[in-house]
Amino acid sequence: MMGRLYTVSGPAGVGKGTLVDLACAMDPSLFLSISCTTREVRPGEKDGVNYHYISEARFDQMVREDAFFEWASVHGHRYGTPCAPVEQALAAGRSAILEIDVQGSAQVKLRRSDTIRIFVLPPSWQALKGRLIARARDPLKDVAVRLKNAYHELEEGLKFDYAIENGEREAAARDLLRVIRAEDPGEFALARQRGKIEALLNSYGEVETIC
Ligand code: 5GP
Repeated sequence: MMGRLYTVSGPAGVGKGTLVDLACAMDPSLFLSISCTTREVRPGEKDGVNYHYISEARFDQMVREDAFFEWASVHGHRYGTPCAPVEQALAAGRSAILEIDVQGSAQVKLRRSDTIRIFVLPPSWQALKGRLIARARDPLKDVAVRLKNAYHELEEGLKFDYAIENGEREAAARDLLRVIRAEDPGEFALARQRGKIEALLNSYGEVETIC
């Protein structure tokens, strides 16, 4: 039996990378795709572990060769999911997770309509801003831009199949596994989570007062 394909997306700083890593550590049968990117390696990151760091020319070549399942420009850099490893994992019956942005997730859904799209929500704007500042990766002026982008990503989140709030990370990773293993995931179905997304969208005004 073919494995199932999942995309996990959410705003910058929401902690989706940590969440996905934790879920994959809890269930090693899951396949986690390693993306290609043209951005620089950050301190603590490793080529072939966090990403495959490639040149603009190599990225162009892979686009021409149709070697990406999907690709997108995010925050000024290009990111793409290489096809072959994902296809192999699915053919071997493993569920595959793509931790990608909302545009990439939409492309994957067009390519494979049975893709299950999972959106990761912050508990509040305050929490998201706190995490963006705590990771000390972005200059403070970029934090406001990322929060504004987050608003548009949340609007896209309304089109996903499931949404998980990333409050306490172990609990959120277990919630993610419940969705992936289809263990009574109804609680996380978008119809049940829509109110939380709408509440965040309606309270975006708070961002003006916290920035
Ligand atoms: P970062 O540079 O902080 O690791 O990632 C920036 C954004 O790019 C995140 O939203 C992440 O989900 C997204 N991203 C990472 N890999 C891919 C990919 O292969 N395709 C797409 N579309 N987005 C990706």
